[in-house]
Amino acid sequence: MITVLTAQYGLVRAFSRGAKKTKSKKLAATALLAYSDFTLVKTRDAYSVEDALVKEVFFELRQDVGKMALAQYFCELANEFCEEDYESEEILRLFLNALWLLKSDKKTPGFIKAVTELRLMSLSGYMPALLGCDKCGKYESEVMYFSPENGKIYCEECLPVGQRYCVNASVIQAMRYVSLSDFEKIFSFSLKEDALKKFSELCEGYLLHKTQRKFKTLDFYKTLAL
Ligand SMILES: [Zn+2]
Repeated sequence: MITVLTAQYGLVRAFSRGAKKTKSKKLAATALLAYSDFTLVKTRDAYSVEDALVKEVFFELRQDVGKMALAQYFCELANEFCEEDYESEEILRLFLNALWLLKSDKKTPGFIKAVTELRLMSLSGYMPALLGCDKCGKYESEVMYFSPENGKIYCEECLPVGQRYCVNASVIQAMRYVSLSDFEKIFSFSLKEDALKKFSELCEGYLLHKTQRKFKTLDFYKTLAL
């Protein structure tokens, strides 16, 4: 039984008979981290894989324990956020781009992780309200506060008691950019080290707060201290 994230039908769980035989051409196409063309047959309420042809594989990520851990976290996120029989083209595209960037070394794993988390939240109906201070509407100030609990931002004057996440303007700009830009652009920016650290903390914190669960692949990734 394999789980496939498809553009058209969201998550599909399908039987893949014979895929374990080493000579099967389906073997690579149905392995973890393969992007393939699937021919699926539905009988009663079960799918089975009639055929699968590889389009692209990300198997080299297995050679780097940190990258592999992150790729597995993305798979766990797909399982959490995607549903069966629900069009998921943009989410599939997001994960494919994240894996491609991870493989190409063009961005650091920490950066790819944070952008993917935040964009995934926005695509899944949890777009944070970043257009201005939630109380007075102020768009920009040197320091703003983001609340991972409710996904809102506040200026210094309107900050409710107990909010902790003080961030500089560049972090808010990055969050707006990732949530609101066209897909082609979301990975094309950079942040200074301190700001990236804060940005990463907020993207992960927001996701964990909204899902209210633990991801064992994320816990493992974090033990690697990348
Ligand atoms: Zn305000």
